[in-house]
Amino acid sequence: MPYIELNVLNNTATDVAVGIDLGTTNSLVAIWRDGRPVVLAPEGRSGLVPSVVYVPSEGTPVVGREARDQAVVDPRHTVFSIKRFMGRGLADVRSELAARPYSATQTERGLVQLELRGRKYTPQELSALILMKVRDVACAALGGQPVTRAVITVPAYFDDAQRQATRDAAHLAGLEVLRIVNEPTAASLAYGLDQRDKGNVAVFDLGGGTFDVSILAIEDGVFRVLSTNGDTHLGGDDFDERLAELARSEIGPVAGARVLEDPGFQQAVRLAAERCKIELTAQPEADLHLVVPELRLNWRRRVTREEFEGRVADLLQRAMDCCRRALSDAHLKAAQVDEVVLVGGSTRVPIVRARVEAFFGRKPHTELDPDQVVALGAAVQAHILTGGKRDMLLMDVTPLSLGIETMGGAVDKVIQRNTTIPCAATVGYTTYADNQTGLDFHIVQGERELAKDCRSLGRFQLKGVPPMPAGLARIAVRFHIDADGVLRVSAKEESTGKSAQIDVQPMHGLTDLEVEGMLKAGFAHARDDFQARRAADLKIEIGTMLHATEKHLHAAHGGLDKETYRDLEDAISRAREAARQDDGTALQKARDELERATLPLAALLMNNVAQKALMGRKLGDV
Ligand code: ADP
Ligand code: MG
Repeated sequence: MPYIELNVLNNTATDVAVGIDLGTTNSLVAIWRDGRPVVLAPEGRSGLVPSVVYVPSEGTPVVGREARDQAVVDPRHTVFSIKRFMGRGLADVRSELAARPYSATQTERGLVQLELRGRKYTPQELSALILMKVRDVACAALGGQPVTRAVITVPAYFDDAQRQATRDAAHLAGLEVLRIVNEPTAASLAYGLDQRDKGNVAVFDLGGGTFDVSILAIEDGVFRVLSTNGDTHLGGDDFDERLAELARSEIGPVAGARVLEDPGFQQAVRLAAERCKIELTAQPEADLHLVVPELRLNWRRRVTREEFEGRVADLLQRAMDCCRRALSDAHLKAAQVDEVVLVGGSTRVPIVRARVEAFFGRKPHTELDPDQVVALGAAVQAHILTGGKRDMLLMDVTPLSLGIETMGGAVDKVIQRNTTIPCAATVGYTTYADNQTGLDFHIVQGERELAKDCRSLGRFQLKGVPPMPAGLARIAVRFHIDADGVLRVSAKEESTGKSAQIDVQPMHGLTDLEVEGMLKAGFAHARDDFQARRAADLKIEIGTMLHATEKHLHAAHGGLDKETYRDLEDAISRAREAARQDDGTALQKARDELERATLPLAALLMNNVAQKALMGRKLGDV
C-alpha cells in the first residue's frame, strides 16, 4: 500500500524581525541569517531605498529611487529629507522650509504638515510610506515572508519627540517597534566590537543630513555610551550645498536671477552638486555639470578636490569640534580611544577620513560598507531581542538633560545628559504657599538654563496634597527612563502617599487620538489610556478618603459598635492594598466599599458636630 507523503509546514518562522536604518537620505533593511547580519536587497541591487516620496497627480505616492528621479521633473511634489521634520514644530523647521518648493502648515498642536497636491501630510505619514517600501523590499527578498517587527535606528541626538514620531511612523506602517536604537550604537554592534574585553570606541557618523559622534566604552563584552555629541544639521547635503552655491554664483550673473528661483533649477543644481562630490571621492578632479532643458541651460565647470575641500573646511571644523566635546564629556583624551568606526556615506570623502584619522591618531574601521553598518547593527539588535544568542548587555545614554521647571522659570535638572539608561532619579519639592493642595509639574529636555529655551515634554498635576503650612509637604518627583528611552515621571506626597504620574507625551508627537484616527483602529490603546487615567484618579480619591478616615479613627473606636468598627478597619486595609496596584476594577470596588464602611462614622461625626454646635450655642447663650 503506497504511503501518501505529507508536507508538514513549519510555521514557527513567520514572525520575522528586521533591523531598519531609517535615514535622512537613504534607508536600508537587514536581517540576521546564518550567524551574521545581512542586508536585504532585491536580486542584483543595493537595497538602498532613497528616503524620498513623490506624490503623483493620480494614484498612490511613489517611494525610493523612482521618487528621487522625479525630483527634477516635478520638484513641487517630491519630498526629500523628511527625517528633518520628524517630531518638530513649524517654528523649528522654518529655515528648513525656506529652501523647499512646497508649502507647510501646522495643526493646532504645532505639528508640521506638508502640503502636496492639496493634501496635507505629516512627516510621520511620509516616513510611514518609506517604511512600507522598506518592508516590501525585505518581504520580497525573503520570498514573500511577512515582516512585522523591527528595530529602527535614530540619530543619537534625536529628542523624545523625534523618537516618538519615529515610533508613530512605524505604527502607521504596520510595524511593531521592538526598540528604537541609536545609530552609533548599532554601528558598533555591526563591527562586533562587543567581543573586545576592554576598550574605548569612537563612532563617527556623517550621513546626508546629520552628524553624530559617540564615545563608547566596552568592558567584559558590555557596551556603555560614555558621551554623544553631534549636529542635526551637518552632513553630505551641506557639502552638496557648497558646490551648489558655487554653481549659482557663476550661473546667476549669466542666466539671470529668475533662473536661480526656478524650482526645477534648484533641484537640478542639488543633484549635479552631489554627483560632482561623489566623483571627487574617487578622483582628484570632476565636472560640476548642470542641464535643465526647460531653461535651455547646459553649464559645466571643472572642480578640483582641493577647491572642494576648501569650500567645506568650516563644516569639517564643526564636526571635529563636536568630536572634541564628545571626548571631553567622556573624560578621555584622543589617545585613549582604541577603535574608531566610520558610518554614513559622507565618510567616504577622503578629507573626512584624513581629518578623523589625524584627530584620533589612528586608522578608522572601514571594513564594512559605511552605508550598511547601521542597518546591519540594527539586525544584530533585532536578533538579540527576539531571543537570539549573542551574550551582551546593551546600554545607551540620554542625549539631553531632563528636568523640571522651577518657580522662576529656571530648570532643575533631574537626569543629566549622557546618563546611561535605563536610569532613575528622584528629587524633592515642597509647597510654596500655605494650604496649597496641588502642584503643577512642567517637564523639559535640554541643556539651557531657562525652561522656555528647552523643549517642553509635558505637564502634569499632583492633586490632593493635604492643606498644611508652606514648605511642610514632602513631594518626591521620580524620573524613570526605561531601556527604550521612554520617560515616566511620577510625583508622590510622602506623608499621605498621594501620587500622580505621566508617561511623557512629546509636544510634537502624535497624540494617541491622532494615531487612532489615522489607523481607524486602536481601540485597545484608547482603552488602556482610559483605564490608566481612571486608576490614577481613583487612587487619589482613595488616598483622600483614607486620610480623612484615619484622622477620625479614634472617635470611631469610641463611638461605633465593635462589628461596624471592624468592618471599617477591613475596608481601610483593603483600600490601602488596592491603592498599591493599578487595577481599575479593584480600585473602584475598594473605593465603593470604603465609602459604604465610613457611612456610620460620618453619621457619628455629624452627630458630634451637631452636638458641639448645639453646645456652642448654649454656651453662647449664657
Ligand atoms: P543618511 O544616514 O543621512 O541617510 P547616508 O549614510 O546614506 O545618509 O549618506 C548619504 C550621504 O552620503 C549623501 O550626502 C551622499 O551624497 C553621500 N555619499 C554617498 N556616497 C558617497 C561618496 N562616494 N562620496 C561622497 N559622498 C557620498
Ligand atoms: Mg545614516
